[in-house]
Amino acid sequence: MRPASSSGRPVGRPAAGSGRTPRPRAGQPAQSRRAAEPEQLGFDGMPERLFVCTPSKLGAYADCPRRYRYSYVDRPAPPKGPPWAHNSLGASVHNALKNWYALPVDRRRPEALAGLLRGTWVRDGFRDDEQERDAYRRALAWLESYVETLDPQADPVGVERVVAVRTAVLAFNGRADRIDLRTGASGPELVIVDYKTGRTGLDADDARGSQALALYAYAAERVFRRPCRRVELHHLPTGTIAAHEHTTESLARQVTRAEETARDIMAAERAVADGSDPDDAFPAEPGPRCGWCDYRRTCPAGAQTPGKDPWAAMDRRD
Ligand code: SF4
Repeated sequence: MRPASSSGRPVGRPAAGSGRTPRPRAGQPAQSRRAAEPEQLGFDGMPERLFVCTPSKLGAYADCPRRYRYSYVDRPAPPKGPPWAHNSLGASVHNALKNWYALPVDRRRPEALAGLLRGTWVRDGFRDDEQERDAYRRALAWLESYVETLDPQADPVGVERVVAVRTAVLAFNGRADRIDLRTGASGPELVIVDYKTGRTGLDADDARGSQALALYAYAAERVFRRPCRRVELHHLPTGTIAAHEHTTESLARQVTRAEETARDIMAAERAVADGSDPDDAFPAEPGPRCGWCDYRRTCPAGAQTPGKDPWAAMDRRD
């Protein structure tokens, strides 16, 4: 049986006789860890390597360690499947909104959106021209409704803004869709805004549970030196906003969880370096998501699950 990791997930079995002294941080009890504690020293007196990560990287491992391995460890990386139409749609909408804020204030009008969307439209993955045209029309309608809710005079603090922060374990960086400066109960505060274009609506639990949003808030607070506790998911297809107000403690919990994931990843990588079977160190976690996985054709576990067509998520919207 493989040893349990800091988050309870098994990690790779160390090779017999590898003789490596385990690093102290990976074996620390969870309750002794603290988010954003000063960088600690390893046995040899040198600072331990920080785990460089984005929300996608942490999320890939949390979803399926094997997918993480295919994406970030195996080199050359195994071939990915074809591009997904829903990703094209999402990227097009995000880019159009980014360019909306790049316009001078007096040109931020709904009439500008068709040109912005055409200029950023990503064509990959659609079944045919008809489906693509339909997706474009829907995206334009979402954007037109959405910008009606925006104050064209208001410039966010950041649009597609990279925020970065270091903790005792992480060198985190991520690109927030938008960072607003608003007036809260205690004065000016930052708000993280994330655009969503998926089929299903979102609720406050989605905003509360999103590790990515929490890490953006944690990083933005430190980058801009202003409070940042509120996170929002803006679902363009329904025009709804799912929001959550974090506390210092809830943000720290999310950072701790991210650090635990990072420790697990580093332990798995060390196990492979020590000679463990990479399939043991990065176990497959097959499930319904395999049908949507870019590496389903490479992964023996995922090959059991029927693959989705690249446009399948678009069909589900009809
Ligand atoms: S196909 Fe499934 S089990 Fe395989 S890497 Fe992808 S998500 Fe993991």
